[in-house]
Amino acid sequence: MSTSNTKSYWRRYRSVPIVYRIGTAFVLGSVVGLLVGEPATVLEPLGDIFVRLLSMIVVPIVVFTLLMGIRRISPSTLGRVGGEVIGLYAVTSAIAVFIGLAVANLVNPGQGLTLAEDVEFDPADTPDFAEVLVGIVPENPIGAMAEGNVLATIFFVIVFGLALLLLEESTEDETVRSGVESIFDIVEAGTEALFKIVWGVMEYGVIGVFALMAAVFGEAGADAIVPFAMLIAALTVAILLHIGVVYLGGLIVALTRQSPVSFLAGSKDAIVTALSIRSSSGTLPVTMANADDNLQINEGVYGFSLPLGATVNMDGTAMYQGVVAIFAANLVGVQLSLVEQLTVVVIAVLASIGAGGVPGTGLIMLTLVLTQLGLPLEVVGFVAGVDPILDRLRTMTNVTGDLAVTTVVAHWNDAIDLTGGSWADPTQGLEVGDTTAGDD
Ligand code: ASP
Repeated sequence: MSTSNTKSYWRRYRSVPIVYRIGTAFVLGSVVGLLVGEPATVLEPLGDIFVRLLSMIVVPIVVFTLLMGIRRISPSTLGRVGGEVIGLYAVTSAIAVFIGLAVANLVNPGQGLTLAEDVEFDPADTPDFAEVLVGIVPENPIGAMAEGNVLATIFFVIVFGLALLLLEESTEDETVRSGVESIFDIVEAGTEALFKIVWGVMEYGVIGVFALMAAVFGEAGADAIVPFAMLIAALTVAILLHIGVVYLGGLIVALTRQSPVSFLAGSKDAIVTALSIRSSSGTLPVTMANADDNLQINEGVYGFSLPLGATVNMDGTAMYQGVVAIFAANLVGVQLSLVEQLTVVVIAVLASIGAGGVPGTGLIMLTLVLTQLGLPLEVVGFVAGVDPILDRLRTMTNVTGDLAVTTVVAHWNDAIDLTGGSWADPTQGLEVGDTTAGDD
């Protein structure tokens, strides 16, 4: 093949929006995994590299965009944005559990199945809620960043950013004032550079996602999935309802008066990445890039709401607790009373807040719900086999919810340009990321 031919293939390949290339890799990887079986798991390291590349930029991007945000909005607006974001996060999570319970009551997943004798689960892993709360204040901010503790990092960066702003306002010393400006300027350049890295990493994502999916399906195989078909179906229906009715109908159309198509087009990269890597935190750089480039949201809102959301707002995870509670009750042949189901709502929301945005935490948090209901913890071991599939659906919902709430709060605070990006043209919005990646 001549070099010019190769170049033109490459150019044609690059002209396809990245989300379609990754989507195709997702499907092809799954098919290859199912066809090849166990040997496909050798590809796993290639997938792990993708996840690590994304994880590599999480802390810097949180620090930089949050500082940028603080420069752009006043401290009082930050306070209001915080209240609105947290309020909407809590309300949508509670609605998610209601929807999950309602769908599961109708579909009744788990009927006709029994627990295998040999499944066991050690419940010692559940994180302590009070510990999570206290941990928001870092003993050592550098340590918090090194550990990837997002909440503690947000706390320190807000304190530091506000201190910079106050200093700039109050100081008489020109050197200090221009020093503050220089810090913010450096951060601005750093943010741009990090977004460039995000889109570069997404180019590798085509290989990474293919490998991840081939490894998952190579290991699980279709046979392992069949007994759980009703559980997967119940969660899928509940998620589609939640996304369709609450996010698109409620948040985007009713509260923001915008097109759901534009919102989905603007959020596509984040949605596909969440499906592929099962981690809201790992997806965070892409979620932020979509908020910035496609949804045209100001850093002042997303710089705070998205890292917070990736850590505490997990509608998919909360909903999953409700669906699996019904599944578990069916497995042991008991019926949950209304009061028990309402208890599930409260515990599931708390559990989803306590769960970190990494693969599989929703499964661990299940122990809280099951223990409260007196249902056997072995259920956790039982569903663990299909968790890699359920976790994808949860994570995709979690990330979509973060972006939908962020859009509404940005709209309420005049921090979004609804005439640009994917709002103006959904197809163009898709490609903003590609352009940012540059053709260099
Ligand atoms: N993997 C999910 C997330 O990162 C959490 C969960 O396991 O439900 O959002």
